[in-house]
Amino acid sequence: MDDLLIINAMLLPLTSAAAAIIHPGFVRIKGDRILQLGAMVRLDAGVAARRTLDAAGMVVMPGLINGHTHAPMTLFRGLADDLPLMTWLQEHIFPAEARWVTPAMVYWCAKLAAAEMLRAGTTCVADGYFHEEAVAAAFLDAGLRAVAAQGIIDFPAPGVADPADNVDAAARFIENWRKDTLIRPAAFCHSPYTCSPATLQQAKAMTRRLGTKLFIHLAETREEADQCQARFGLSPVRHLDRLGVLDSDTVCVHCVWLDNGDLDILAARGAAVITCPRSNMKLAVGTAPLTEMLSRNIPVGLGTDSCASNNALDLFNEMGTAARLHKVHSLTPTTLPARQVLQLATRGGAQALGLEAEIGSLTPGKKADLLLLDCQTPELTPFHHQDLLVYAASGHNVRNTIINGRLVMENRTILSFDLEETMHRVRELADRLNR
Ligand SMILES: [Zn+2]
Repeated sequence: MDDLLIINAMLLPLTSAAAAIIHPGFVRIKGDRILQLGAMVRLDAGVAARRTLDAAGMVVMPGLINGHTHAPMTLFRGLADDLPLMTWLQEHIFPAEARWVTPAMVYWCAKLAAAEMLRAGTTCVADGYFHEEAVAAAFLDAGLRAVAAQGIIDFPAPGVADPADNVDAAARFIENWRKDTLIRPAAFCHSPYTCSPATLQQAKAMTRRLGTKLFIHLAETREEADQCQARFGLSPVRHLDRLGVLDSDTVCVHCVWLDNGDLDILAARGAAVITCPRSNMKLAVGTAPLTEMLSRNIPVGLGTDSCASNNALDLFNEMGTAARLHKVHSLTPTTLPARQVLQLATRGGAQALGLEAEIGSLTPGKKADLLLLDCQTPELTPFHHQDLLVYAASGHNVRNTIINGRLVMENRTILSFDLEETMHRVRELADRLNR
């Protein structure tokens, strides 16, 4: 007996950019995995399931993968908008974090972020923050798949009072979570301007030893690139490369200020990139050379960054923004077609996070992480093809979200935890912050 059977769907497997919609189609799920999928005419009449979902009028596709966020920062959403990155970070975000970030704040605010992401069809997220054990616990309670990375920074941070302990603290976090099936632990060096060469090398040695990913914000602003050049005589990418930090388990976030030599180095080392167009636009840092990355076969995923610099965690909106931004930036309407963007938010993200064997497409044997999106709405009528998902859909169109074979949202109601309680807790924290 199957656990879940989805029927009559507009199936979008996204196994490649060219993969067509199968309509009407079915998906069979047993345990945490996809057992079989295909056209309804191929569904064996003898198939029985504990639960059947009729997905008539709905697109069924792989859950979206948010390659980069700082989930607990939901508390700081809208706290300081319309500022340059360094002013925003140093005068607003870092002081607020020093004062307000506790394990309880991290847990409730990450859970709120999880709700926002589940309701927008995100089934896997890569997070980086402090007290990451509380983020991991929140995601686990929410049923959200994650790569959770403990932050490393060379000044006293929440939960790590002595910066000399920052790499060891990350190692302890990774050891504690390495056996979990839903949460993959990792480490996150904040940036080359907040982590010394020694810290970067120690963090890389530690993540290599433990077989996990190392994330880092890299080449986000021109100011960062200029500072790196002044201090080390190298671009941020060449600086990391000289330190031996770049390899196929390094995930570089942003990568806006790269020259062709930097791109060649990332490609040669097999390093992955997560691009965050809405955050880059809001902080006015520039446009990442995405087509140049893709032409070099650099694994690229799409991320929202924190909702303090976006200000939302909706990957549908992020996809639409990415497609439009790179067109206007290149003054070429054929740049970054919608189908390529759909790949970035699914298979690309899975590849960048090292999870391609498990998630990123609807494929028998892969984990059952998928979303059901209602197309019977004015903005999605008529539904000629999947490009509409990039240009007209938003997270609000998602009806059901399934992770690891488990229905975590049904008819837009979160089933895995009490959303009202979570919003109440975050409002209480915000009241204290505003007092
Ligand atoms: Zn970030």
